[in-house]
Amino acid sequence: MPKTNYKNLEKKLTLQKRNAWEVWDDKTKQSAFKFSEGYKKFLNQSKTEREAVAASIELAKQAGFKDMAGVKSLKAGDKVYAVNRGKNLFLAKVGKKPLAQGFNMLMPHIDSPHLDLKVMPLYEDENLAFLKTHYYGGIKKYQWPTIALALRGQVYLENGKKVEINIGEKDSDPVFMITDLLPHVDRHGATDSRVKSKEVLGEELNLVVGSIPVKDEKIKEKVKLAVLEYLWNEYGIKEVDLASAELRAVPCEKARDLGFDRSLISAFGQDDLVCAYTALTGALDSRVGDKTQIIAMVDREEIGSTGNTSVNSNFLETFVSDLSELVDGEDDLDQVYKIFSKSRAISADVTAGLDPDYKDAFDVRNTCRLGFGLAIEKYTGHGGKLGTSDASGEFLRELMTLFNKNKAIVYQLAGGLGKIDKGGGGTIAKYLANRNLEVIDAGVPLFNMHAPLEISSKADVFCVYLAYKAFLEN
Ligand code: MN
Ligand code: MN
Repeated sequence: MPKTNYKNLEKKLTLQKRNAWEVWDDKTKQSAFKFSEGYKKFLNQSKTEREAVAASIELAKQAGFKDMAGVKSLKAGDKVYAVNRGKNLFLAKVGKKPLAQGFNMLMPHIDSPHLDLKVMPLYEDENLAFLKTHYYGGIKKYQWPTIALALRGQVYLENGKKVEINIGEKDSDPVFMITDLLPHVDRHGATDSRVKSKEVLGEELNLVVGSIPVKDEKIKEKVKLAVLEYLWNEYGIKEVDLASAELRAVPCEKARDLGFDRSLISAFGQDDLVCAYTALTGALDSRVGDKTQIIAMVDREEIGSTGNTSVNSNFLETFVSDLSELVDGEDDLDQVYKIFSKSRAISADVTAGLDPDYKDAFDVRNTCRLGFGLAIEKYTGHGGKLGTSDASGEFLRELMTLFNKNKAIVYQLAGGLGKIDKGGGGTIAKYLANRNLEVIDAGVPLFNMHAPLEISSKADVFCVYLAYKAFLEN
């Protein structure tokens, strides 16, 4: 009997984790760097859901996508989009086969953790004016004080007008800030004991917005009135109008390259704009396939996918019904559900990258690494697989076989978020699974997820773009 070559056997039988930077040739590396320039531009334009929708429509229109409302019928290769309440953008590239045979869909979310203003936000305390906030999504509150914040959003006035607010992005703009205690009066906060350090409470996330009082002894809250005077003169806004507003504080910082080698990206909102941008550009660049390709950008993922712009909104059914009517001539809900049952989807969302400083939080054998490509998560959720949509083995196999055809697509496999019974987190996959679609989570691994600035790898961003494009086309 010939002696077994165990080196060859090891190569054949064991799973090799691959670093995209080591797998790629120089040309692919350059493509990844070039791709990240467009991504950074998109990030800077898209710090709110509405802005992400607007920036995406602009790119889609340039690629020939048309508003579905003005379309009478659709044939293979046609490209359309539809918007829901300014916060959802759904796009479709019609395939060669009837929609009745199912579609390929990428569903990223375009909301990110941030600080919303409260309904009654403005107050004065100790001769300073503040705006109270209520955090949106799961944040670590201590990360938000002492950084420069911009104010963005809309205010709806009594006269029917809408005022756009965008303060803090330009270098000449003022910024806003949440304060924190100096270490001298917060000794525990200055030591290395994480348990004893002062906890930042939700009610302490208040933005400093002014300190000059109006000159009139009869007025009780002089600084607050000065701020109101400014808002009135500048925008026509009264205090009550702050209730009928959608205003938020987001980090001022722009998307930047990170590291000597510029291999990483630091930016606000990469969860989940990184998947929104790679899904969108994947669809803009994709070949027309047999199946219709759909990109569905949803909102409200970070607060549990409730609301009329979330994945749980009937807008998905309406969009597919409209599409079915224009492509196949059928628009009833029963038909929509039949189409769902034959469709495949990727819940295009980010996941945690293995942070070497905090290895204890992870099962290192089942966690994704930055630079190791598309992160495919068979399931997310909590201990005991509670709340998960565990993807089927055959769907995962199908995707791996597809991605193996393109050497530049490096991917990694994981499941769960953090250690069993210690970590946890959900995605929208389960809501698509409930509609009887085949669905799996796959996206970009991040460091600092949900922090004011999150970190991604340019290698992963480009792998995800290539993988999403391949998924849509096949
Ligand atoms: Mn996410
Ligand atoms: Mn998130």
